[in-house]
Amino acid sequence: MKFKPFNQPGPQLGNQYDTDRVLRSYLRRALPPELLAEVEPSLRELGELAGGELYRLQLADRLNVPVLTQWDAWGERIDHIEVTAVWKRAERLAAEFGIVAAAYERAWGRFARPVQFALAYLFHPSTDVYTCPLAMTDGAARTLILSGNRQLIDRAVPRLTSRDPATFWTSGQWMTEFTGGSDVGLSESVATLDEAEDWFLHGRKWFTSATTSQMALTLARPEGSGPGGKGLAMFYLELRDEDGRLNHITINRLKDKLGTRKVPTAELMLEGAPAVPVMGLTDGVRNIIPMLHLTRTWNSVMAASTMRRGVALARDYAHRRKAFGALLSHQPLHIDTLAWLQAETEAAFHLSFCLVELIGRDEADDIAAADADLLRLLTSIAKLTTGRQVVTVVSEVLEAHGGAGYIEDTGLPLLLRDGQVMPIWEGTTNVLSLDTLRAVARDQAGLVALQRKVSAATREARDPALVEAGQVAARAVHNALHFLHENAGERALLEAGARRFAMTLGRALALALLVEQAQWSLDNEQDGRARAAAVRFSRTAIDLLAGVDPAADFALANDEPLPSGPAALVDAAGRAS
Ligand SMILES: Cc1cc2nc3c(=O)[nH]c(=O)nc-3n(C[C@H](O)[C@H](O)[C@H](O)COP(=O)(O)OP(=O)(O)OC[C@H]3O[C@@H](n4cnc5c(N)ncnc54)[C@H](O)[C@@H]3O)c2cc1C
Repeated sequence: MKFKPFNQPGPQLGNQYDTDRVLRSYLRRALPPELLAEVEPSLRELGELAGGELYRLQLADRLNVPVLTQWDAWGERIDHIEVTAVWKRAERLAAEFGIVAAAYERAWGRFARPVQFALAYLFHPSTDVYTCPLAMTDGAARTLILSGNRQLIDRAVPRLTSRDPATFWTSGQWMTEFTGGSDVGLSESVATLDEAEDWFLHGRKWFTSATTSQMALTLARPEGSGPGGKGLAMFYLELRDEDGRLNHITINRLKDKLGTRKVPTAELMLEGAPAVPVMGLTDGVRNIIPMLHLTRTWNSVMAASTMRRGVALARDYAHRRKAFGALLSHQPLHIDTLAWLQAETEAAFHLSFCLVELIGRDEADDIAAADADLLRLLTSIAKLTTGRQVVTVVSEVLEAHGGAGYIEDTGLPLLLRDGQVMPIWEGTTNVLSLDTLRAVARDQAGLVALQRKVSAATREARDPALVEAGQVAARAVHNALHFLHENAGERALLEAGARRFAMTLGRALALALLVEQAQWSLDNEQDGRARAAAVRFSRTAIDLLAGVDPAADFALANDEPLPSGPAALVDAAGRAS
């Protein structure tokens, strides 16, 4: 018996810039035409690399991971980490394309950030999460600039923002200790001062993701300093001495991780590592916030970028794979699934680029008061919203490839492994939700600004389907505000609803931004696809606050008995029904 040869065709990628309608349409709206013309060749070149050479290299290098060699042949402690081929290539390309530097090129004013993040968005999915050190590098550069510490700025910022691979530095952000990553105020690392007034750090850092970087910003408690985050100071340290050896730092091991396996995340010991206080000897947690704002922004954009990669692969595959006599791209239910994934992806894109745009305006001192209020609230909301979206979307992307999606050498499982970190690091979903709640309890200006932005998008929409979609967003924000006011003073109820509150704001704003883009695209590009995305997204769960029963939740979470009487649902306003 002869078998017919059977090859299951795998998905292909084209130029990742040319084929990205959403990115290109957004840039046409957001950038002045002459700036777009100036940066488009770089975007196109990076799009070509990302869909071609880098993608192939990534697949070929799939099994390699960074290797830690702690001792050399002659018994000397070296703690050398050899990174993968993709990482070596990515480091050069990151400098050459200015993926950090672009943000600091002031000639582009408020547009510097959208340009930089468009580059990063194209770069990310083909470079095995090299964007992790880039995010921290960007965060460190900004934090140092804001610190006003002239000596450190002069030493590090030109390197962190260099376009020359020979001088380019990356930075780590070492916060998490054994005692906690969310509750960093418990950090146990200690800083001591010698007679020459030099500082040295002692302690154990439990997660350090850029241990191959040249520098890090970290937290330690100066001897005699008080408890909590206030008693910590932010320190600058360079990892290696003049001979290139780790400077009183030893690496215990590299973490054995589910994903981001190319990222050398280490557990390390600070054993009297020389360091310099960046801005005083207290308030370290507060002082490192600019770094977190940027790393969370990177996280949001990289989540959108991972979703886009997954959908691009699934869409292409649907045009190649037949089931039940037709291509998947013609099967109504498969189309329905892909349309939903595309709508989620577009929503994540616009939410994260709204944040990027506001940062660009802020850094260029070109920001309206209401936008500045919104910016303060948006970092956490965008990070937690997109962090959950990416896991949902890439999980579906794997399923859209059937069994192949579960097979390692297709490269597809990587999307899920790497996507799963996005809701965890840089602040988990719950921790950022509580931050959001605290932020609005302190000051409601951001919330008011968000509500106005959502209302404006709805008001300015003329297309009837977009008006209706905008109204879904406006109602969700209205209910979120109601939830806040009705439960004021009810701490347990507020905390319990914090994630649904923050997600409602994130999804509603994403919807409003989609509506805005869609109306523009109808008017200027005569393209109805963004409208279709807005309408489709408006039919997903936007208002997550309605219909909750706190007593039932408690029983469910703790598996405790629950009487069989009628459920006492509490609506978004906290009213029992
Ligand atoms: C791959 C990877 C790389 C990393 N790289 C770095 C790095 O380079 N530098 C660095 O500093 N850190 C790094 N981290 C650490 C990361 O930032 C922390 O793991 C994260 O912040 C969570 O902290 P934790 O692990 O202590 O979890 P915990 O704080 O113990 O949280 C456990 C769970 O409890 C929830 N929770 C906590 N408090 C509350 C609350 N009050 N109410 C409700 N729920 C709550 C959290 O949401 C979470 O689900 C990395 C982590 C990973 C996975």
